Amino acid sequence: MDVLQVAGFLDNSLVNGKGLRAVLFLSGCHHNCKGCHNKAMQDFCYGEKVCIQEILLRIKNNMPLIKGVTFSGGEPFEQADTLYKLAWAVKSEGLNIWCYTGYTLEYILDNLNNKGWRELISSIDVLVDGRFEEEKAAKDLRYRGSSNQRIIDVKESLKNNNITIYNVD
Ligand code: SF4
Repeated sequence: MDVLQVAGFLDNSLVNGKGLRAVLFLSGCHHNCKGCHNKAMQDFCYGEKVCIQEILLRIKNNMPLIKGVTFSGGEPFEQADTLYKLAWAVKSEGLNIWCYTGYTLEYILDNLNNKGWRELISSIDVLVDGRFEEEKAAKDLRYRGSSNQRIIDVKESLKNNNITIYNVD
């Protein structure tokens, strides 16, 4: 059975990516950013273990209302080995995927041999990357906490071999 350590779930949200989206918060993060808003979720044991089939069912119960699913945390890439299976199932339902990560896209691409990283990044449409930097935080930033973080169109970036910023308008 494929199980994820889940810190939280929102059936629908407008602030965690473009359009109405389900949001899955994954437990566990090593980044330890100063000013982290989700400190409790840094703990790899926080929350509960949930089978990916159960999460998928809950997501499907919100279709066709939602446009996609957002993975947040915590650090979703720490559970990539199981999370990619959920991501692939979500994609097969025709939903798009946003993912928040403290890693940069460049770092992820340099470490594709980490378990599940290649599979997970290949399923993500939009990546909001980089650690939260308190001194670069601003309230008016859409879909991100600090200005160093980038909202990246992953498919275009991989196709062009160049970071392509996603147009949020
Ligand atoms: S990456 Fe996110 S969850 Fe992890 S420490 Fe930084 S702000 Fe907190």
